[in-house]
Amino acid sequence: MPIRAWIFRQRVWGPWTAHLLRVREATASLRMTVLLFLAISVILPRAAAQPISYTISLADPERHLVEVQIILPEGPAQRELQLPVWNALYQVRDFAQYVNWVRAKDRAGRALPVRELDKSRWQIAGAQDGAIVEYEIYLDSFGPFGAQFNSHHAFFNLAQVLMYPTDARNAPMVVRFSQVPAGWHIATPLTSMPDNRFGAENYDRLVDSPVEIGDFKESDFEEGGAHYRVIVDAEPGDYDMEKITAMLHKIVAAATSWMDDRPFDSYMFLYHFPRGPGGGGMEHAYSNAIALNADALTKAPEVLPSVTAHEFFHLWNVKRIRPQTLEPVDYAKENYTRALWFSEGCTSTAADVIGLRAGLLDEPHFERDLSSAIGELEGRPAHLTQSAEESSLDAWLEGDAYYRRPERSISYYNKGELLGIMLDLEVREASHGQASLREVFQWMNQNYAKKGRFFPDSDGVREAAEAVSHADLGWFFTKYVAGTEEIPWDDFFRSVGLHLVQGTKTTADAGFVPSRNFDGPVIVASVAAGSDAERAGLQVGDAILEINGKMAAQEFSEEMAKLAPGDMIALKVRGRRGGERELRWKAGSREEISYELKDLEKVTPQQQARRAAWLKGEVEK
Ligand SMILES: [Zn+2]
Repeated sequence: MPIRAWIFRQRVWGPWTAHLLRVREATASLRMTVLLFLAISVILPRAAAQPISYTISLADPERHLVEVQIILPEGPAQRELQLPVWNALYQVRDFAQYVNWVRAKDRAGRALPVRELDKSRWQIAGAQDGAIVEYEIYLDSFGPFGAQFNSHHAFFNLAQVLMYPTDARNAPMVVRFSQVPAGWHIATPLTSMPDNRFGAENYDRLVDSPVEIGDFKESDFEEGGAHYRVIVDAEPGDYDMEKITAMLHKIVAAATSWMDDRPFDSYMFLYHFPRGPGGGGMEHAYSNAIALNADALTKAPEVLPSVTAHEFFHLWNVKRIRPQTLEPVDYAKENYTRALWFSEGCTSTAADVIGLRAGLLDEPHFERDLSSAIGELEGRPAHLTQSAEESSLDAWLEGDAYYRRPERSISYYNKGELLGIMLDLEVREASHGQASLREVFQWMNQNYAKKGRFFPDSDGVREAAEAVSHADLGWFFTKYVAGTEEIPWDDFFRSVGLHLVQGTKTTADAGFVPSRNFDGPVIVASVAAGSDAERAGLQVGDAILEINGKMAAQEFSEEMAKLAPGDMIALKVRGRRGGERELRWKAGSREEISYELKDLEKVTPQQQARRAAWLKGEVEK
């Protein structure tokens, strides 16, 4: 995104300034209006683009059908419309598969020819005086990455719904929702205008703004001068709005103080706590959307602050501290980047720090989670064959079960989070406690985000780490980021008086490797040759519907973790060619390496001081 667009990205309007005072942030709007008149006078002569108007009609909830109308202003006779093939997940999902039909007409209502150019692109002819394009799209993908319309609610990842004119992606956009069922409200970080209309300065901003329409609950709070909205769509008995708001206060205060920055005036949290399957979080520049199964929320309440801190921190890391390889976004094909180990993994590292600073995570839990993250990486043979950068590039394969096998791939979330922790410890060591991961992020914020620049993937992280530590850290990046050398954990942990103790434990061996693509079904990725699972008839590609009588959604890993050697495993599966089967067999046993971070026998005062600073995410005093 060019610098000009970046500076004014929060709100750049053409014709709608008058409506701005209706924006909820009443205090901010006056100041913003003045800024806007200045901004418009600078920008309009160059960006004379007329707005593209969309109408999304909530036509048929029972059949999950939405009708979209796009009004194209006058312009070239031939226009092309593109529906993204991906968004939210780094996976090609071909949203065009859900488009039932496309047609176009001129302003007088005469039909215009529509020609499909490829599976996601359409050409309209005779559009010189403007055109009206209409299409019907089926929307029933749940979760924060999807778009769903049913009789309960609508949640839209707008990139899954809205085509854009390829010659006007940077034009201002207005979207209107029509046929909204009685009693339903609209929540979105887009700026609201009268008549259920919402605006964005361009398509990228439009589709970076989730929309929830339904009968949700809403709360809000102020913290550090910003206004936060909290939207929850769930059964009232499944959550406590006061607890959630109290948690959010702590998270936003800890994160903004850690970054010493708050690049927004308002921000929206959007939660779904479904009873059925559905989980995950999705970051946006001014909001995030999180789904967490209601049972999981009760049984593992620590997950909510952890996911929330991760998605909130993304407002810096990936949204503003953004790798060059993701800009400009290519909606028509894969957008390859080597930086996901940092943009995702180190976002989890930052979420740990925020949790520690906010008092939502304590040292024992942090170190236990860290040990199990190390176990996860070490347990995947692919940690010796696939680097963190390669796993970032290969993110686009994550939809494929074979790719997710432990011998084929590692997770850039998992290794990236660990690399964030090792980099933090190394920057502290190299700078004698005078710099840390916090300074790395702040340096990148100042030198890239605030200047409207994008960072050159791993080289940009190295540049920042070297700038704040005044040391050559090339070896770290060569060996562990671009390379696949074993990480000598104890060399890093020594500085904080810890070491990793390996043990063995006998665990249940189910005889197969389950795998899951985000919130998709649990799939059998491999079956051990000669195992009881194989003899019972389990096959690669089977989708697991139930485990020991429980739905294999959120609870699957929990049920697997509970298994002891000799326990019965009862699965209900659906085969690749359809047809459900019930299978039973006894779990075997195997030796597994376990990891535990423990204090060194003698922890020196220097190590104690370093650890205290590390756990606060601060430099040593
Ligand atoms: Zn993330």
